[in-house]
Amino acid sequence: METATLWEVTSEYRRTYPLLQEHITSDVVIIGGGFTGIASSYHLQNKGVQTVVLEQHKVGWGASGRNGGMMNTGYKLSAADTIKRWGVEEAKRLDQYALDCNKAVEEIAKKHQIDCDVRMSGHVGLSKNKKKQQAFERSQELIEKHFGRKVRVLTGAELQEEMNSDYYKVGLMDPLSYQFHPLDYVRGLAEVTHDLGADIYEQTKAIDVQKTGSTFIVTTEKGMVEAKELIFATDGYSEKITPELHKGIFPLASFVIATEPLEKETLENLIPNNRNLYDTINLVNYFRRTPDNRIIFGGSGIGYPAKQAFKDELYMLLTSVFPRLKGVNIDYFWGGIIGATVDKFPIIGRTAQGAYYSVGYTGHGAAQSTLHGKLLAQCILNEERLNTTFENTPLKTVPLYTNKKFLVSAANLYFRMLDKLG
Ligand SMILES: Cc1cc2nc3c(=O)[nH]c(=O)nc-3n(C[C@H](O)[C@H](O)[C@H](O)COP(=O)(O)OP(=O)(O)OC[C@H]3O[C@@H](n4cnc5c(N)ncnc54)[C@H](O)[C@@H]3O)c2cc1C
Repeated sequence: METATLWEVTSEYRRTYPLLQEHITSDVVIIGGGFTGIASSYHLQNKGVQTVVLEQHKVGWGASGRNGGMMNTGYKLSAADTIKRWGVEEAKRLDQYALDCNKAVEEIAKKHQIDCDVRMSGHVGLSKNKKKQQAFERSQELIEKHFGRKVRVLTGAELQEEMNSDYYKVGLMDPLSYQFHPLDYVRGLAEVTHDLGADIYEQTKAIDVQKTGSTFIVTTEKGMVEAKELIFATDGYSEKITPELHKGIFPLASFVIATEPLEKETLENLIPNNRNLYDTINLVNYFRRTPDNRIIFGGSGIGYPAKQAFKDELYMLLTSVFPRLKGVNIDYFWGGIIGATVDKFPIIGRTAQGAYYSVGYTGHGAAQSTLHGKLLAQCILNEERLNTTFENTPLKTVPLYTNKKFLVSAANLYFRMLDKLG
């Protein structure tokens, strides 16, 4: 049913890493080889700290290699929600932090010549519901007044300039978002941290974690790692091995289709300014052009793994938004798990044993995970943090967490219902 991801097929980076088959020691062991795990390793290695990354499949196999490659500004929470929750000053710092996340990816890619098509594209958050215009105008007012940057509410002809469709009625355009090739970024960064001395193991699943005195002992299927510090970077793929994350993460399934390559004229007609586009409902549909002239279109499915019905639904939505694409071939279809939290906000915390984790980006992890890797390094090195809000937010227990398979379906159904209610 699922194909390889478009990112896998077009990836420039092909280095592989061995399976762990011995007993080794390190300063820090990191479980999970996605953006968070690899970025943590990179920031620690830069400070001379020896790291080992354990990835159960391949680097970037999880959400990091499956996402839409959109580095959108802000958080899942709106500007109004952020201000209500933390007050104006902290909300302003959080907004700046999210901008810094995008910049960090761009700078790291530039510094290490990671070829991942990173570019400032801007985004437009969209709604089919004209009534949403008021909420967008409120966001615009708050962002401009308190965060000191310009965004624009778009309707009618102005919205048509961003997308040639009358499916959506109103949009909020933010020019500071980015796009990239997510798998090339995470694999490129893995090569960088590996070259800095990190040990990376693939096909190496952590199956047990114990703490003896001040030492973590992580057992894998064929080996073992001892380290003073442990980071869980497993996000939506967290399992019972970390009870805190098993309880605290909402696993949301999301699927993506990629069209066949389109005529340049068609692409420029449909998405003229090459921005990230997404629906601002809970279970977002998101779409963009790709450097190889396709359109990718993502959205939720009820449950995981993939079903033909999810692909059909995405095709139906794509062609409802852009009727001109009726009959277009779909070359790729894949899915993945987004880690969300009850508060729709990313959280850095510690397990009862004292291991660190950074999880729950709730659809905004593509860029935030890179600076969260830095925050984790700062926690371990006891340095001043870029921002402490993520550490000061508790990870709440997700209802029904004991049955993950059921939860993936239930979570999708629940959010669909909220979206239908408007
Ligand atoms: C379809 C889809 C579209 C998305 N689109 C966007 C987008 O456009 N923009 C955006 O900002 N965000 C998006 N996201 C979310 C974003 O991809 C994530 O926030 C981000 O990748 C999280 O990175 P991570 O490293 O924390 O987790 P992941 O990339 O999920 O990595 C976790 C890794 O841990 C490994 N692992 C788990 N358990 C073990 C174990 N016991 N032993 C060893 N390894 C283990 C897994 O194999 C996995 O590779 C999307 C997600 C999906 C699924």
